[in-house]
Amino acid sequence: MSQHKDNSSPRKPASHRAEPGQKGYVPPSTNPYLSSVESGRVPDFDVIKPEDIKGDQAVDSEPVLMEKRKHASQRSSASRRSVKGPRKGTPKKKSKAILYTILGIIAAALIVFYFVRPVTIMVNGKRLTFTVNTSADQVLATVEEQKDVSIKPGNLVSVNDNVLKEGDGYPFTLSVNGETLTYEQAQAYHVHANDDLVFSNGGNKMEPYTSQEEKIEPVMTKNGAYGSVAYISQWGKPGIKEIKTGKISGEVSKPEMKEPVKDVVVTYLNISPKNGEKLVAITFDDGPSKYTDQILDILKKEDVKATFFMLGENAKELPDQVKHVKDAGHEIANHTMTHRDLVTLDKQQVLKEITEGFQAIEAAGAPKTTAIRPPYGSLKMKTWLEGEGKFAYSILWTKDSLDWKRPGVEAIVKNCTGTNAPGDIILLHDGGGDRSQDVQALPQIIANLKTKGYKFVTISDLMKSDERISPDVVNMDNTMPSDAVWPTEIATY
Ligand SMILES: [Zn+2]
Repeated sequence: MSQHKDNSSPRKPASHRAEPGQKGYVPPSTNPYLSSVESGRVPDFDVIKPEDIKGDQAVDSEPVLMEKRKHASQRSSASRRSVKGPRKGTPKKKSKAILYTILGIIAAALIVFYFVRPVTIMVNGKRLTFTVNTSADQVLATVEEQKDVSIKPGNLVSVNDNVLKEGDGYPFTLSVNGETLTYEQAQAYHVHANDDLVFSNGGNKMEPYTSQEEKIEPVMTKNGAYGSVAYISQWGKPGIKEIKTGKISGEVSKPEMKEPVKDVVVTYLNISPKNGEKLVAITFDDGPSKYTDQILDILKKEDVKATFFMLGENAKELPDQVKHVKDAGHEIANHTMTHRDLVTLDKQQVLKEITEGFQAIEAAGAPKTTAIRPPYGSLKMKTWLEGEGKFAYSILWTKDSLDWKRPGVEAIVKNCTGTNAPGDIILLHDGGGDRSQDVQALPQIIANLKTKGYKFVTISDLMKSDERISPDVVNMDNTMPSDAVWPTEIATY
């Protein structure tokens, strides 16, 4: 500020001034000398001294002023530089400084007012005014004092919810604009204009406790009573249960679910294509064999896609046929290694039949798959459990040709086409013995279904047509994630 600069000038008359307490001292605010400086009318500090002013009060008289100006003009430029004095424009500068000071004070006052301005809020349905930023505690204290609201604190309770000390819970519950705050949030809350506050009784507070966690292993569950298609719709993940021991009460709580367990779910259904689209899947088991190429020729001629459930031992023996099936764009899945009834086997044998089957067809060139067709359609929940997630699909059929009985071409055609529904899966064989009746029946079966308006698709495409099946699993290659946990038990309902 200009006053401060003046006081620091080497030529200022400070040494001549009386110090506070001394005789002749004038406090700065009432010092006429200083007020003259503020008015910009004192031309030269090294001439006018406080004593002079006090003596004759002549500082405002024009002749003196003129005299001082003249005197000032005679000084050397060197001394002029060191003196804050009567240069042109200085009074203007000082006026500006004063203006800024005043504006500053007004701004500061406005800022202070902004932080303490009154605002109107609703408190339990009543319109009230508080200083902005008032805390929830302060608002409650005010309304309780006015007997507008009566709030009861909650209790201190044990881990099993028994009251340990009445009134030692949370002092109140606060909701702001319809949203209930936690007690910590309520403590941090400060009022804003138009907020709608509702105070209610405080909640119970649980005693301090120590916590113990318990792992819950997933089990295997079944979704859907029956269906020609079964698949794993959810992999397993363990859950966590928490048991609390109260530090005050010593009580042990009932286990509470902290993280829910995810059980392995096997979903059973019959395929129901979207919008009732007439889709049908023709499937061949027990190959490849010497009949496979003949069947491929018919399918090619009729422009029909099919699915082949191959035996690992046959794929190993006839890898060229596996490649022919694959190259023609048909789907390939696992019919186990040696065609044994899985239900009659122990766990190790089940795993061996399944994993060796997958390895053999893949070694012969089949794309990666986790789908099986259990021999004889024989599979139980126990088999799923024993499979350890190595297979994720079990595909049966809805129309059995009974071709294994070799009942004659006409019977085979009739068994496959007597009545049909969208989503049908037809069972035929391209291996496992004399398949000449199948080869003869196949063109008639295709012709019959084409006449009825059916379109021939693979099992994967059939699954894709059903909106209930997740897109994640329709490609028949769903594999257990590395972090999934396989169950050791089937759920008991
Ligand atoms: Zn079979």
